[in-house]
Amino acid sequence: MNWGWGLGRCWGCGDALVPNEVAGICPPCRWVWPTLPDHEASRILARERAGCEVFGVGFRLRNGTHDVLHRVKYGGFPREGRALGQWMAQGWRAPPPGSVLVPVPLHWRRRWRRGFNPPEAVAEGLATGWGRELRPDLLRRVRHRASLTASTRAARLDALTDMYVAGPKNRRNVASGPPRDVWGCEVVLVDDVLTTGATFRVCQSVLEAAGHRVVGGVWLAMA
Ligand SMILES: [Zn+2]
Repeated sequence: MNWGWGLGRCWGCGDALVPNEVAGICPPCRWVWPTLPDHEASRILARERAGCEVFGVGFRLRNGTHDVLHRVKYGGFPREGRALGQWMAQGWRAPPPGSVLVPVPLHWRRRWRRGFNPPEAVAEGLATGWGRELRPDLLRRVRHRASLTASTRAARLDALTDMYVAGPKNRRNVASGPPRDVWGCEVVLVDDVLTTGATFRVCQSVLEAAGHRVVGGVWLAMA
């Protein structure tokens, strides 16, 4: 099937949308699309999994929506992720004013291979739709995967925490742009899929050890 990759096509079935069709889903697909609206029930569902305040979760992973997520992650087109982020921003209230959006980073090698970081593309769409600042510079992934030799639970958590580093790589990069807070931000983490919430907790502990406050998370999809 030719998905066409364009924003003018339905995320569900790939059919062309009429101009100005909302949210990239055609009317027939909208009936069966397992979206999670901005309701207390969605928040509770996601909060149980993530163990934090939830500022948005787009849809449940089912047969049909797996394809959409796969295209966002591996399709090679960041605009799909951006469009989904903007769609989520239409349906969910914005996080508190002054909070910044930080995408869960990829290791540079994987990012280079894919050409972009899918959670960052989603976060770009959210930042535009919500009018919040996007701060991918606040968190970096420095290891490809965690060492699996750790035997205790605490050692395993340490090994996961070692995969990420807070703060900009180079202070000069920050100084060259407009003045920005490097420490002490109110952070909303953005990731593509919520499964166990382990990635969230690891990123949260790294950011909080660096003086930021992680106020919650946003996920494009929930398993
Ligand atoms: Zn459709």
